[in-house]
Amino acid sequence: MKPPAFQYHDPKTLAEAVGLLSTLDNAKLLAGGQSLMPMLNMRFVLPDHVIDLNRVEGLSGIKESGGALEIGAMTRQRDLEFSDLVKAKCPLLHLAIMHIGHRQTRNRGTIGGSLCHLDPAAELVSVAMAHDATVTVAGPNGTREIAFADFPAGYLTPAIELNEIVTTIRIPLWPAGHKAAFIEFARRHGDFAIVSAAALLQIDNGKIARASLTVGGVAVAPVRAAEVENAITGQAPSSELFAKACESCRSFEAMADIHASAEYRQHLAAVLSRRALEKAAGLADNAPWNRAH
Ligand SMILES: Cc1cc2nc3c(=O)[nH]c(=O)nc-3n(C[C@H](O)[C@H](O)[C@H](O)COP(=O)(O)OP(=O)(O)OC[C@H]3O[C@@H](n4cnc5c(N)ncnc54)[C@H](O)[C@@H]3O)c2cc1C
Repeated sequence: MKPPAFQYHDPKTLAEAVGLLSTLDNAKLLAGGQSLMPMLNMRFVLPDHVIDLNRVEGLSGIKESGGALEIGAMTRQRDLEFSDLVKAKCPLLHLAIMHIGHRQTRNRGTIGGSLCHLDPAAELVSVAMAHDATVTVAGPNGTREIAFADFPAGYLTPAIELNEIVTTIRIPLWPAGHKAAFIEFARRHGDFAIVSAAALLQIDNGKIARASLTVGGVAVAPVRAAEVENAITGQAPSSELFAKACESCRSFEAMADIHASAEYRQHLAAVLSRRALEKAAGLADNAPWNRAH
């Protein structure tokens, strides 16, 4: 199918883009188009105006600043994939990006577009949740920051106003030497996950000093497994500890759809969480499920 008719706008500055978004009725922003174009073609969205962010200056780039990675919203997923800075400082982001679609979609798709599309199983949404990211948005009254925990407002709905544009994602870094793992269960390579798990561990003197565990694809947005994080912090990592703690993931509120029932998602949440923690802690090297990938 072809998209419905709309008027196309091609701003060159952020001020121009915000101005257009604030004055035009029923407008949509275009980033990489990898979600918006299918949504247009399937007539799920029917905008009168499309505002293209691709030639707006200053919205791309990856840098380290004040203990965090600052990533411009229009930074392509492929640039994150090949960034040495990302690989060295934020291994979870590097690992997660390899699960997103295909190189063709990563060539165009942006981090800002992925966070704003807010698919429940989107890998970048899970990484932002896992790392307690902050999103900066620009609107007619200036800029404001949103903690990522407050960013999902509902299914496919970010907590930003209709006249706001995401400009930057700030990902606080964990200490050097921390461990990360990202695993997912998908029907086929390149597809969205049915359920995913993202784990971060800081292990000091044989004990877990800090833990972050995020489960994607179960609820309308990825959720932090706070109960698991609390249960394993201060403990020595072991498969038994992780298996016991991750049982609490079976009580997550879960969605059901054509691909999986709520009960199956809860089961996957418990299993994949345990596996992600084991992998991050280096306990899974000989596990059959790990050898297969
Ligand atoms: C075949 C295929 C497979 C895919 N597989 C995966 C996968 O496995 N995992 C995954 O996570 N994704 C997957 N995707 C989606 C892909 O990652 C998209 O790139 C991403 O969801 C949207 O990013 P985009 O830059 O293309 O944004 P667009 O499609 O251009 O925009 C998406 C939405 O965000 C809004 N938006 C964009 N930028 C901004 C901004 N700066 N401020 C405010 N609103 C904004 C748009 O208006 C639109 O509503 C796949 C896509 C395809 C086509």
